[in-house]
Amino acid sequence: MIASNLEESFEIKVKFALLEDFEFYENVLIEIENGIIKKIEHENQGKFPSLILIPPLVNAHIHSGDSCFPDLGYNLTLEELVKPPEGLKHKMLEKIDKKILKESRIKWIKNLLEFGYSIIADFVEGGYKGVSEATEKFSDRYIILGRPSKDRIIEELEKMYSICDGLGIPDSFAYDKDEMKIIRDIFKDKPIHIHVSETKANHIKKDFWIALENLDPKAFVHCTHLNREEIKEIKNLNKFAILCPRSNLWFDVGFPDVLSFIKEEVNVAIGTDNIGWISPDLWKELEILILHLRKFSKEDYSKEIFKWATLNGYSLFNFKGGIIKEGYPADFIIIDNEKIELEKSHNKLVTLIKRMNVSLIYNIYINGKSIKIKYN
Ligand SMILES: [Zn+2]
Repeated sequence: MIASNLEESFEIKVKFALLEDFEFYENVLIEIENGIIKKIEHENQGKFPSLILIPPLVNAHIHSGDSCFPDLGYNLTLEELVKPPEGLKHKMLEKIDKKILKESRIKWIKNLLEFGYSIIADFVEGGYKGVSEATEKFSDRYIILGRPSKDRIIEELEKMYSICDGLGIPDSFAYDKDEMKIIRDIFKDKPIHIHVSETKANHIKKDFWIALENLDPKAFVHCTHLNREEIKEIKNLNKFAILCPRSNLWFDVGFPDVLSFIKEEVNVAIGTDNIGWISPDLWKELEILILHLRKFSKEDYSKEIFKWATLNGYSLFNFKGGIIKEGYPADFIIIDNEKIELEKSHNKLVTLIKRMNVSLIYNIYINGKSIKIKYN
């Protein structure tokens, strides 16, 4: 054992830790007291275990409902599969036993929380009924974004307000202007996330501007076809973009202008989207983003991309953390370095992103509490 958290203060020793400037330091000793990082020392003498300590990842956008029917409809288009209300997914969700759906959803989310995510945001379909019958707020790190049904929308939204952390709107055309005004009014102090310009067709219909004017969302999901002006607008308004690159590839809808998001310094977070079609593994998203960027620039943006998956996710959901820094919550994951070998690397963050997989996670700490310990 490298640490024991049975007592309220303890220390952890690791060979490598990614500290607040998102650089790796060697031979790091971290003191934790009452769930907070009290002291960090690095470049210590002596033998340190071959482990890597980094902040946990935030999966800012998933749909856990489709976890019940993975890889349904290989030949179908995005619209045929997931567009409400006619998409095959929605027909399946209507029919499925809500108890089975709830069990499947919670099992997935719990597994994910044990595999290196500290926060997960879920677009839960099916209105008040969908949220109340088919999920449960079992952790403050599980963010429920509900989707109001259009029948008796005021009553529906008022009921949803008490059980949802915010709303997850399918697109700018799912509701008319009056309905969007009601949605905004009732959820005025809770965040709205919305799929925007996932397809070219919706971008042509100016869905980004319609969403902005009518719903004032906190986060725009996908942004596959946004142009530089729109990307700049997200930055100017201090809102968030949530990119889901593997989902865009799977559904063959295009690929976001990642370099412009970096150049404009937009607050970007990352999501894996539909569990039914995309494995909820954010490490794969990080690798794809880095691979894709090399086509446009040989500059190293790995730090920016990694901040999207950590620091920005914490900030999007108003949690303190996402960095390893004194005075911050002791949230981190510890990874087995033996199959990664950072000591040999000339670019440690890039090496970690390309060689990491969740089976190498040795332990995860949230507020100084160990969630999972892998005994080798
Ligand atoms: Zn989505």
